[in-house]
Amino acid sequence: MKILLYVFSLLFFMACSTSRNTAQKDKNTDDASKFAASITAENLKTHLYVFASDEFEGRNTGEPGQKKAIKYLKDFYVTQKISSPLAKDDYYQEVPEAFLNQHSRRGRLKDSENVLAYIKGTEKPDEIIVISAHLDHVGMENGEIFNGADDDGSGSMAILEIAEAFQKAVKAGKGPRRSILFLHVTGEEKGLLGSKYYTENPTFPLENTVCNLNIDMIGRVDKRHTIDSNYVYLIGSDKLSTSLHQVSDSINTKYTNINLDYTYNDDNDPNRFYYRSDHYNFAKHNIPVIFYFNGVHEDYHKPTDTPDKIEYDLLAKRTRLIFHTAWEIANRKERLVVDQLEPEIKSN
Ligand SMILES: [Zn+2]
Repeated sequence: MKILLYVFSLLFFMACSTSRNTAQKDKNTDDASKFAASITAENLKTHLYVFASDEFEGRNTGEPGQKKAIKYLKDFYVTQKISSPLAKDDYYQEVPEAFLNQHSRRGRLKDSENVLAYIKGTEKPDEIIVISAHLDHVGMENGEIFNGADDDGSGSMAILEIAEAFQKAVKAGKGPRRSILFLHVTGEEKGLLGSKYYTENPTFPLENTVCNLNIDMIGRVDKRHTIDSNYVYLIGSDKLSTSLHQVSDSINTKYTNINLDYTYNDDNDPNRFYYRSDHYNFAKHNIPVIFYFNGVHEDYHKPTDTPDKIEYDLLAKRTRLIFHTAWEIANRKERLVVDQLEPEIKSN
């Protein structure tokens, strides 16, 4: 009888602690989901119809349309009361024309700017998660405007929505444990120049940069996915950090259930997308990256890449995946571990 009573109390105790753990877990789920709910198709659409409008003249690096783009981004952060890591009211990291022209693959360029905004971590402020997208596009040609709605208006607007969701968390006293840098780079179309400049002149030391989540084209569907558009290509997630890949995969299962397509992640893929957007400037410094991408489509780098062709519900869903991934990396107990060698180094 005594033993029975003991076993019964033990079982009772175990049951209580299990339900307490579940309650704790659910609470975290609720927080992340609650803030992710502010990322909506409507908001993304409203922003993108301005950012990719004719008025912004294709956002060519150093040109008046690109200056309108940086002002749009800055005004958003000021309105949201999200600060700059550079100086009060100065959200622009100048990328000098001398630097641009030293490395440019396409013509002579004028002074340009990256746009930086930042939320300071509550417990590990020195550890930085960088979420990036390029703000520039290819401008105009023979009087035709290349709006660049998908490339990369979609990624630029996704960052704004992610920043807003994190800022809502801050206001609710649930700010991220690690810091988050929202990095809008210029000169991508001229040869990944804004991200090159940032990583050579980082605002936060690269050794404290936990990872880079880079977004370049997430508003459209490519030919391979016309039947089931619930997908996004992920590139790079497993190349430097096993834990980054695991986090990314489990977060998707838990929250978004998008088909993660790793076709272009193959080291032997002839497209070599891993080397072709801004995240590579982080990866080559041994910082783990994930590149989010919808693949190319018939309007890629054409004047017809316009905001009316974006699938906004899908854009919102992909944006929520990136938000949840960033949330987990920012709030998890351990910093992501780098346990793999960069593929180019490995093969040499
Ligand atoms: Zn792009």
